[in-house]
Amino acid sequence: MKYAFFKGEIVPFSEAKISIMTHAFNYGTGVFEGIRGYWNKSKKQMYILKLKEHYMRMVNSCKILKIELKYSLDELCKITKDLVKKNEYKEDVYIRPIAYKSQEVIGLGLTGIDDDFAIYLAPFGEYLDISKGIKVCTSSWRRVDDITIPARAKVIGIYVNSSLAKAEAKENGFAEAIMLTPEGLVSEGSGENIFLIRDGKLITPQVSQNILEGITREIIIELAKTELKLPVTERAVNRSELYIADELFFCGTGAQVSPIVEVDRRRIGNGKIGPITEKLQKIYFSAVRGDNPKYSSWLTSV
Ligand code: PMP
Repeated sequence: MKYAFFKGEIVPFSEAKISIMTHAFNYGTGVFEGIRGYWNKSKKQMYILKLKEHYMRMVNSCKILKIELKYSLDELCKITKDLVKKNEYKEDVYIRPIAYKSQEVIGLGLTGIDDDFAIYLAPFGEYLDISKGIKVCTSSWRRVDDITIPARAKVIGIYVNSSLAKAEAKENGFAEAIMLTPEGLVSEGSGENIFLIRDGKLITPQVSQNILEGITREIIIELAKTELKLPVTERAVNRSELYIADELFFCGTGAQVSPIVEVDRRRIGNGKIGPITEKLQKIYFSAVRGDNPKYSSWLTSV
């Protein structure tokens, strides 16, 4: 990491430091985004995926946490492009914008507290093993509910909930956890959305089931409909429906398209990456790496 955007300017990464008294550091009162930049080796070009869409979600997260963003959508995109350019990475990167309660103050609340905005980026490869499919569990931790901390906002504090689930999964030998809502419906992974495939149809939990409204989820819905002509349904999913799915996969900025081959030690389908998941993976990667001109509008070249 060479440069960050901090307090209104691009500075060396080592200078982008906050005080230990920062409100967001003490209370989790910030929101963030995770955006991928894909490096296309043959074109020698960096493509940022769905840049504007990520900032549109951040604007909504800020509304929920009463954080005032000093920048317009266009300015946020421009600052990000400038920072990516300045860092000169020639590999895949992960871009992390953070909008947060920046004041040094003791005391809870959201109003009357100063806000700030920062970005850093780092080289980033695979987050989950997407080549052979992963083994996952359902978590004993419940996903935060909309009346606890709204999950559609990408709030820093929510990631305690996600980390509890992820830690439990890993300590028990699983790659990832599937979280259920307090009512016991399938919500999502600790850091990614989930899709089931049954009889050639895609099914994914609804936005009201405490999910983060994933950008990749939207991409998958679009690709499934337009490229594979498959019907997609957003509806409530029970845990037991996971066990009888033909195919299962996670999707997210980090996870990309990540096939699941086992849930709670039960084999999914034939225990190998399913054919529809495999097709979606291929289409996804060609689009996000800038190899399919049909989807060039998703990409911001740097
Ligand atoms: N759910 C959670 C809890 C996440 O952290 C993420 C990653 N941002 C996702 C879903 C996937 O969202 P996206 O596709 O926008 O990265």
